[in-house]
Parts: sequence; structure tokens; C-alpha cells
Amino acid sequence: MHYGIDVGGTKIELGVFDSQWQRLATWREATPAADGPALLARLAAMVAVADAQGGARGTLGLGLPGVIDAGGRLVAANLPGLRELPLAASLSEHFDRPVAFDNDSRCFILSEVGPGGAAAGERYAFGAILGTGAGGGAIVEGRLLGGHGGLAGEWGHLPLSAAASERYHLPRLACGCGLHGCLERYISGPGLVTLFRHFGGEAERAETWYAAWQAGDPAAELAHRCHVDLIGEALANVTKLLAPAAIVIGGGLSTLPEVVAELPAALGRHLFPGVAMPRVVASRLGAASGVRGAAMLGAGACV
Ligand SMILES: [Zn+2]
Repeated sequence: MHYGIDVGGTKIELGVFDSQWQRLATWREATPAADGPALLARLAAMVAVADAQGGARGTLGLGLPGVIDAGGRLVAANLPGLRELPLAASLSEHFDRPVAFDNDSRCFILSEVGPGGAAAGERYAFGAILGTGAGGGAIVEGRLLGGHGGLAGEWGHLPLSAAASERYHLPRLACGCGLHGCLERYISGPGLVTLFRHFGGEAERAETWYAAWQAGDPAAELAHRCHVDLIGEALANVTKLLAPAAIVIGGGLSTLPEVVAELPAALGRHLFPGVAMPRVVASRLGAASGVRGAAMLGAGACV
């Protein structure tokens, strides 16, 4: 048996999987407002219940929000309890078994290259999550790419190009990471709202933009065209760097098939002739990918 735990800001989900990555059981709990060691003890208790019910000790992988730094610490995450805790050193001790952990965007693409995923069997793939932020993860030669210091795949913090900034008269907005002009500020869900307002619309949430777009609002259409173009340019840059055979879109944007359908052409406009185009597809496993990817990580799965 293989366990995957997705630890989010509001809920914890533990999934039990067989060797074919089919889900056998699920436990969900609200994330306790506890310090790091207490939170880990809570997770360990969930794992103990799963062990007892299955009559065996499963392998374990954890998917965590935020970036994991070179020292195995979770940074830039909305889980204050786990932030700055030396996870690499303390996890195996807490769970009494080897534990693999990585950020949730990487777990996402690992799951999507697994059986039944949108990029099943692909040895070169990129997962682009567009939701509250813009996270990413890459599969290179069948393995999850970690990179030096664990930064690989953070495409959302690539900068808006000078050409795009000029074309759409976009200001270089401050990003939560400390840099200015990061693509995440324009291509995430909140980024799309920013674009809508930039073009004269009024909205606080992406749903408002969507309703306006469906109703044929000109500002919503301008925001949409700009949004798709910026994502296309960013994915073209990812393609030049990693040459994925498939790009899997996750997060809220993946639930809008009419937008995802425009991305291959948008990407192609920023590539030169003769380049092998990646397939651009929506996630097939959706939110379930995080837990499954964590389980696959824990079992050392590769394509
Ligand atoms: Zn940034």
C-alpha cells in the first residue's frame, strides 16, 4: 500500500493507493491550528490508523504548499506551523519510515504522468497549475525535476516580457516573492481579475470576469485575449527550456475547457517554425492529483 498526504491550509487529505495507483481509501480532516511538531503528530496518527486498517505499513509521501528550500525547509507557505521546520530531518522520525515530500505542483504532474492521467506515460511533461497562484513542476526523462535547491518549475516567477508589457501597457506589479513583474501577478486567477480591471472591468473574483466574458463584455474579452497570450508566451518559454511532450493545465483554469483549447495556438505564436509542439491538455485527475502524486512520490514512482 502507498499513502499520499496532501497538507493544505484548510484541510489534510490522506489517500491509500494500490500498486496500480487506484485509490482504496480516503481520510480527510481540517488542518489543526497547531505548531509544527503537533501538526506532524496529527499526521502520524492518521497514518497509524491507515496502517491498522490495512494490516501493513504503507510507503508515505507528503505534498505541501509552497517552496521547499535547499535545507529541506518549507518556505513561502500558508502553513505557519510547518514553516522553517527542518522537515528533511524530522519526518522519518515522526512517521517511523522513510518519507518523501515535495510541493503540491510537483505532486500534480507526477500523478498526471501516471496511469489514467492526462499525460500518462510521458517521459517529458510539464504541469502548470493556474489557480490562486501559478505553480509548476516538470518531468524530465521520466523523473520529477527537483533542481538545485528545489527551485525547478517555478514558471510563475518568470518575468512579464518587455514586449508584452508594452503591447498591453501593463505595469510591473510587485509579487509576493519580492520581485516585480512576475507572471503569476497576471496569469493566475487573481491575475486575470487584475487584467480585467486594467482593461476597464470591475471585479473582485475571477467568476465575475467569467460571467462578463460569457455575456460578451468587451473589457472581459480584452482581458481574456491578453491572459491567453501571456500564458502562451510563458509556456513557449517553458517549451524552449524543457521540451515537454505534454503540458498539463491544473487549478481553476483547467475547469474552463474553452480557454484551455486556445492555449496550443497561443503557445505556437511564441515559438519558431519547426519546433516540436507539446500537447496542451487539461488535468484529468483534478484536485485528486495532489494526494495521488504524493503517494507516487513516496513510492519512488517514475515513468
Ligand atoms: Zn514572484
